[in-house]
Amino acid sequence: MKIAFFEVFSEVGDGEKEILEKHFPNDEVSYFKEKLSMDNVSLVKDAEIISVFTSSQINKDIIDSLPNLKFLNTSSTGFDHISTTYCQEKGIAVSNVPAYGSVTVAEFAFALLLNLSRKISEARNQLRQSLDFHNIATLRGFDLKGKTLGVVGTGRIGRNVIKIAKGFGMDVIAYDPYPDQVYETEMKFSYKSFLEVISGSDVITLHVPYTKENDHLINKENIAKMKKGVYLINTARGGLIDTEALVWGMKEGIITAAGLDVLEDERNLQARDHALINMPNVIVTPHIAFYAKEAEAEIVKVTVENIKGFISNNPVNIVK
Ligand code: NAD
Repeated sequence: MKIAFFEVFSEVGDGEKEILEKHFPNDEVSYFKEKLSMDNVSLVKDAEIISVFTSSQINKDIIDSLPNLKFLNTSSTGFDHISTTYCQEKGIAVSNVPAYGSVTVAEFAFALLLNLSRKISEARNQLRQSLDFHNIATLRGFDLKGKTLGVVGTGRIGRNVIKIAKGFGMDVIAYDPYPDQVYETEMKFSYKSFLEVISGSDVITLHVPYTKENDHLINKENIAKMKKGVYLINTARGGLIDTEALVWGMKEGIITAAGLDVLEDERNLQARDHALINMPNVIVTPHIAFYAKEAEAEIVKVTVENIKGFISNNPVNIVK
């Protein structure tokens, strides 16, 4: 088979490329660190199987440039970067990696939160400039213990977030249209309505997929109802938050700080994203919540299973 891998993460040591090479010794395989785009699609025009990650926008133009494509894998959980309807129309099967980073992403949400609540980046930057251990007046943080965490989405990642939050002694309230009452009792948190979670939390963290219905789930109307001084964490998808509304909420003093691993326009940063990146009290990271050693190993393992499954007529992790 002609297989092309895009957005290959690491190329040295026991990196992804080396592992993939061992699994497909008899296939014609090409590897690209870059995303798949109209600029390079001609290099793989005969590919039958393609594997990408979240930066490759698989739209009609790309699909039409790949006449032999039979199977498309995304090594991510989210697949909102792929036109699955058009793939279906063209008879191209699409698979994802449904559960690789549930702990990894949950830990990262807390990394962002703790960085903000204890002003770690700010303290480091200040110390580098001042070399003064006595000048700490602007660096007072706050404890997570006793604060209310609002978890939006209690799927695989949200559940791990709740477990960690309980370890910190936080009170947890959550919203999910499909609540898990057994977990609610086990972990001693409470499901509430979306608005109760939004308006009753000291920290809000998002763990839902990006869908048409979830576009701008966080918007000006509900930001206005948030507790003054709320912290907002987003490790899910940028489009869940209306960026302009977030900037407005911060300027109004409703949202004190935001930890964002994802941005609405992260594939093509706009002026408003630059504004956000440069705001004090905002930490933006370049979509790396998933990127830990353990999660990468799982991604590669499941990517191989997805491709081998398709080749052997036993497809797994197919998305609709
Ligand atoms: P999951 O499918 O296990 O859980 C998602 C949950 O969200 C489900 O329980 C669903 O019922 C709920 N949900 C859907 N719409 C909702 C809404 N409007 N309000 C409240 N709940 C809602 O998914 P997961 O594994 O927990 O991952 C969540 C998302 O995190 C993924 O869809 C992906 O976009 C994102 N993610 C980001 C990274 C990263 O590197 N930043 C890595 C992995 C996943």
